[in-house]
Amino acid sequence: MWTVFEVFCHLDSRLAGGTEAVKMSNVEPDKSKQMRSPELYPEGLNRYRSTIEGIDFPSLPMARGARLLSVLWQVEQSQWWSAEQLQQKQREQLLLLLNHAVQTVPYYRQRLGQAGFHPGQPWDDVRWLDVPILRRQDVQAEREQLKSRRLPPGHGKVHMIQSSGSTGRPVQVLGTGVTRFYWDLITLRDHQWHRRAFTRKLVAIRPDRLDQGQERFTCESWGAPVDLVYHTGPSVIINSRVDVRQQMAWLQEDRPAYLLSLPSNLRELARLCNSEGFTLPGLEQVRSYGETVSRELRDRIGAVWDVGLIDMYSSQEVGYMALQCPNHEHYHVQSETVLLEVLDENGGRCGPGEVGRVVVTALHNFAMPLIRYEVGDFAEVGEACPCGRGLPVLRRIVGRSRNMVRTPDGRCYWPSFPASKWLAMAPIRQIQLHQVALDTIEVLLVMEGSLTEGQRNALTESLHATLNYPFAIILRPVNEIPAKPNGKYEDFICEL
Ligand SMILES: [Zn+2]
Repeated sequence: MWTVFEVFCHLDSRLAGGTEAVKMSNVEPDKSKQMRSPELYPEGLNRYRSTIEGIDFPSLPMARGARLLSVLWQVEQSQWWSAEQLQQKQREQLLLLLNHAVQTVPYYRQRLGQAGFHPGQPWDDVRWLDVPILRRQDVQAEREQLKSRRLPPGHGKVHMIQSSGSTGRPVQVLGTGVTRFYWDLITLRDHQWHRRAFTRKLVAIRPDRLDQGQERFTCESWGAPVDLVYHTGPSVIINSRVDVRQQMAWLQEDRPAYLLSLPSNLRELARLCNSEGFTLPGLEQVRSYGETVSRELRDRIGAVWDVGLIDMYSSQEVGYMALQCPNHEHYHVQSETVLLEVLDENGGRCGPGEVGRVVVTALHNFAMPLIRYEVGDFAEVGEACPCGRGLPVLRRIVGRSRNMVRTPDGRCYWPSFPASKWLAMAPIRQIQLHQVALDTIEVLLVMEGSLTEGQRNALTESLHATLNYPFAIILRPVNEIPAKPNGKYEDFICEL
């Protein structure tokens, strides 16, 4: 049996999912949906939790909660700084990390030296773009060499984080009490940005951890970090491996205000509501993580449930990388905790409108510093946000390189899938595309009955239009399309 705290370390502190968190945003949202009834969420509705008997106002939170609030207050200010101010402070923190790494982490001793970094050196002399990229396979191969030989006091207990990964080859990194603290901090910021009322019910439908015989777990609070600071309502965790109809039956019972899940699971739930007339009364907001969010999914959730979708971009290894802006569908990099770079093929920085690979430096991990770690995703850089925050913008997170289609005429790009179009064309429940040769796409279809000749032709034609190339299309009906070992799902996989 888990304690409330453990469950919510799992729920909120760990909702990152794997590194294949991939997101998408194209069009500005309807703010009225995203910030529904803002008058319902005055500051006072989220009541601070006091831990001293007889004291309620102003409240005296427990030590960890107080610490979180004090740093939350700091990042409340820093989010409005200019990009230059943020960069300046980031570099100061980065120098502390580099000094620590070069002195106590064998892996970095030479590598940072080769990039011109020596202990005590000012930032201006650092040739940052010469610091080698740390790849996933480097972390696997050099794990021991990446561990700090001397963790400064106060960084807390060291723990292991295992990212299951999409390929089944796990990456193990170390975290500390401090990295966990900053995770909690950004979790609270996400709640604050999206104005959640903690007295309401939260349901999280997740793929992991509950598979030791438990399918549904109810809890009287939202758990840490929220209940370290605030009074909260109840919450429920459901294992996403449970059949979607059973999930729906529980949702009918639970009636959550906030629903958190993987995009592929949300799509199935929305489909079920749409086809069978289920409703989710009282639902205020849907939250997603861990997979690509398409324009279509946002539209579908808006149409079926009349609420907004709030996405986040995170990974087990480095924590939160970006949160959805409170006013827009794009993402703000969490510069207070990570230095995030989007790099082109030559290792140069991408500008607004350009797509490149995401490389991240976790600023507070002193147990196993991840400096210029290649997460595996590609993202598009955005312009500065009209909301006024100086935190850099990612317009969308487009996916991993294996989600990219390659054409015989030399193009490669991330396809986008208006699955609803195909669902309307034939009784298709689920679709997954595999590029098996440069000119051939195999399409796995889960469907009721079989396709008529007309449906086959219409589907092939539609795929040609979507993929923007006349690939040979092989349609292959299957009974099910299994999720990957980490419970996640991809629409398109290039096997070349
Ligand atoms: Zn913004």
